[in-house]
Amino acid sequence: MAGIAASIDEFRSTGAQHDLHTIELAVPDTQGHLRGKRVPAARYFASVHETGANVADAMFVFDMQNDLPENEFVNMDTGYLDCHLVPDNTTGRVLTHRPGYGLVFAHVINEHGDPHPLAPRSVLAAQIERCRAAGLEPVVATELEFYLCNPDWSPVQDHIQYSSLTDGFELEPVLYDMRTALLGAGIEVESSNAEYGPGQVEINAGPADAMTTADNTVLFKSIVKQIARQHGLRATFMPKPWAEQSGSGMHVHTSLTSGAVNAFADSADGEPNELMLHWLGGLLEHASALTLLGAPTSNGPKRIRPYTFAPTHINWGLDNRTVLARCIAEQGSAANRIEFRSAGADANPYLLIAGILAAGADGIERDLDPGVLCEGDMYTNPGDKTPLPTDLAGAVAAFSGSALAGQLGDTFSRSYVSIAEAEVALAAENNPEVDDVNDWERARFIEHC
Ligand code: GLU
Ligand code: MG
Repeated sequence: MAGIAASIDEFRSTGAQHDLHTIELAVPDTQGHLRGKRVPAARYFASVHETGANVADAMFVFDMQNDLPENEFVNMDTGYLDCHLVPDNTTGRVLTHRPGYGLVFAHVINEHGDPHPLAPRSVLAAQIERCRAAGLEPVVATELEFYLCNPDWSPVQDHIQYSSLTDGFELEPVLYDMRTALLGAGIEVESSNAEYGPGQVEINAGPADAMTTADNTVLFKSIVKQIARQHGLRATFMPKPWAEQSGSGMHVHTSLTSGAVNAFADSADGEPNELMLHWLGGLLEHASALTLLGAPTSNGPKRIRPYTFAPTHINWGLDNRTVLARCIAEQGSAANRIEFRSAGADANPYLLIAGILAAGADGIERDLDPGVLCEGDMYTNPGDKTPLPTDLAGAVAAFSGSALAGQLGDTFSRSYVSIAEAEVALAAENNPEVDDVNDWERARFIEHC
């Protein structure tokens, strides 16, 4: 494993050792896709590592199909300006599954020389700074599920064998190559397992600082798709490809460190400490608004259904897969954290993590209380807990004009809502059924999620 370079000098010397011929200068768009430019390595290390490159700001207002719904900030009148990519050379890494290629992420600067307000990395950076200003460093991990498919997008299996080490053994060469490629790109793979869907897989990666985890998550998805294709297969992170099968989630684990020590560690068994309770209180306070960041198209909210292991109500618990926020709180454990379970695998990890950090930070700033711990089956007995939005219009209504939207920035939030409103209109025309997933929907999302 070559790892992630700590500096341009380290990236240059790792690049030379691996005979890199091309560097991908990468920037995540609003849909969580990696876009950017391929630059000859000699040119990159001679100049582009400092000078950067330009790219059209249209990428921040694209929908999943690269159409451009009406947008008040980026449009024909503004002229689809170039924005400037500034390489963050401490994200440089080698892509071992494609010998000769390296990749580096870029910050995005607008025409005034400021962080671009629509760039997902800018939105996340602001919330990381907010936590740091309070002396807290967020530590984040994402857990991703996806379906492995044939070239016609049918699943590679017709049955479920959760976590089997025997069934589906014929898929192991593909999964091995995925784990190896992720490790090669500096992503700390913990394990992979068969999930509770036919051909559904989960691969877990270790925790890191929030920006590294967001970078790693978009790269993870790109690498998994590339390896599937190298094997003549496909992978999809569409959150609910088939109404009758499990959805694919992006669970997000967060904790905070203070002076390099887990600030949730002095919890008791099953009893989160005060800081953890306030963080949790913030997540629950903003949970409805957060739904849009985790389910930005008409398909994502279809995951939020009873008995699917996706949450349906705003609640928290301990080791319970029917709650929204699962607390891992053990006496003195450095692994104490909160798992937030509502987002689908198509979520943009920068925006989702930014929303979670904003919500948690607000909980700490306002001493919010998460209410009582929920035990047992929260699908059958949700009590008086508020249901999460179950369709896109509901998710848009919860986010639009919310306190969370304000905290993430007015320009970003208005632009994001207008993209989602265009999805609401398209779904009304092409699949008004809030429970069914039809061919239009799969054709729109299965490849690009
Ligand atoms: N597939 C479920 C979801 O869509 C999650 C299953 C699990 O608990 O890992 O959220
Ligand atoms: Mg899972």
